[in-house]
Amino acid sequence: MLRATEEMGIDSGRHPTNSQSIVFGPWHISYSISRILPSICSTKVVCEKDDNNFCQFCVYCKELSIPHFPDMVFPMNILTLKHNAGAELSFNPLDALKRVAVTAEAIEVACAEEWQEARPDAAKKKKPFDWTFTTDYKGTLSNNIEVIPTDEQINFEILKLKDEILFYHDLTLFEDELHDHGVSKLSVKIRVMPSYWYVLLRYFLRVDEVLVRSHETRLFHQLNTDYVLREYTHKEDLAKDINMPTSQMKEPEDVLPILTVKTKSMEKLKISNPSS
Ligand SMILES: [Zn+2]
Repeated sequence: MLRATEEMGIDSGRHPTNSQSIVFGPWHISYSISRILPSICSTKVVCEKDDNNFCQFCVYCKELSIPHFPDMVFPMNILTLKHNAGAELSFNPLDALKRVAVTAEAIEVACAEEWQEARPDAAKKKKPFDWTFTTDYKGTLSNNIEVIPTDEQINFEILKLKDEILFYHDLTLFEDELHDHGVSKLSVKIRVMPSYWYVLLRYFLRVDEVLVRSHETRLFHQLNTDYVLREYTHKEDLAKDINMPTSQMKEPEDVLPILTVKTKSMEKLKISNPSS
């Protein structure tokens, strides 16, 4: 019933990947890890053929409307949870970056201009986009998952209980240091315990002296139930309204507990069973 495996493979960017997986009841949970997205096409001759055999960099250029990517993108850092019934939840940087605004007004700060100047390409293209890479990505769901608003809450008391951790990983999907003016980071953590699995997807933004923002998605599934609870929380405050200098916020945990909750939503992701 429970099996953890490790595999080596080659990703479509033609780089070695490393992956681990575990079988948990009807779930097959796995993650892969990869190196950073290159900043140029690595196989021009192959990609120019345009026959759908692109390197990761070219895939990103084709799929995304933003003119620039974060400094560090890990294209194959992907967490996948597959249910026997066919439902699949996954967390990947490409889908997350698809939700970065290309028209919305970016945060107007002094460093925006400096940031643009530091990236010659940016100045050239002058295409508006949210240079903080803010995304409201909550994960990628397969079509057969029904999303229903609910009042049911995640029982955080269960999460605090000390028990054996069967599987754990923390993956960075992308990260950018905003030209030394802060941090924009998307990461996902998975924890599998004997009676449940729990995922925390977190987008964290700190623009020094300007603002702090987080979009956190928590997913909780208790074994032998046919649904996953999904909680989405947006927190944000201007730096001047937080009783802590941004320089002291080394880790998101340093500031998240004191940020103002702007929105919160609860949903039930219903895993339909094909046999019923
Ligand atoms: Zn290419």
